[in-house]
Amino acid sequence: MPVTHGVHALVWTGGWSPEEARRAIASSAEAGYDLIEIAPIDPTGFDADMTARLLQEHGLAVSASLGLSEDTDVSSEDPEVVARGRQRLSQALDVLRDSGGTVLCGVLYSKLGKYAGPASERGRANSQETIAWLADKAAASGITLALEFCNRYETNIMNTTQETLDFISVVDRPNVMAHLDTYHMNIEEHSFTEAVRAAAAAGRLGYVHVGESHRGALGTGSIPWPEFFSALTEVGYDGIMTFESFSSEVVHRTLSNDLAIWRNLWTDSKALARDALAFTRSGLEAAARQG
Ligand code: MN
Repeated sequence: MPVTHGVHALVWTGGWSPEEARRAIASSAEAGYDLIEIAPIDPTGFDADMTARLLQEHGLAVSASLGLSEDTDVSSEDPEVVARGRQRLSQALDVLRDSGGTVLCGVLYSKLGKYAGPASERGRANSQETIAWLADKAAASGITLALEFCNRYETNIMNTTQETLDFISVVDRPNVMAHLDTYHMNIEEHSFTEAVRAAAAAGRLGYVHVGESHRGALGTGSIPWPEFFSALTEVGYDGIMTFESFSSEVVHRTLSNDLAIWRNLWTDSKALARDALAFTRSGLEAAARQG
């Protein structure tokens, strides 16, 4: 089961200047990862050509994730807000394509943040129509979309694997997959095993984030790792598995606040990334031995 091991850019840096990009990409490769997940949350200022050159230099693959803001929320009832959201998603898609990646993931379908009420019918339809539209654009560049459901404090559109699969069946595009993140699953799912099985059975298990319950170092929180790795092994998951972790040590102007990163959970990015890869590899190997 050759999983592609990735690491989120925020483990290294909150910005993407040429110096920051070089350090993040070189450090990811040095720590033994196959891929870096970039976060072109503001895609207009993102230098994709520079990113592509650095990736090639260091032999690293790339994926991209983002979440939308209040102002670009495609689940809004306001057509102007939805239009701005579509423009942002389209720009992020271009950044990923020009950087050389094939999977765009994250909260592509709504704002990343707390909502004051449940989603409206019109808002949900706007979100679904936008994802269908984006999927068709993505298909032209051979790109897959992976929708990351989040816990209830970060979106009101989808909070569980089943809700994600239901949304995907309405969208009805072959290149739209479910993106499972252990941090969110830990808050919302009744069973990690059932969630993985359901996504795989639907043929839509497309992306995985491994994140600890407090978003710090893997193995130091309350995620049921042996269960999760066993479930992935059982269904033969061979996609991208990105380590995601946040600390007040590395701050992104908007993302860190959207995710409520108020505490310092680690200071040494290199040790954190190296340990996470060893933890993930050994967890998968143990699951394979037991399988
Ligand atoms: Mn995530």
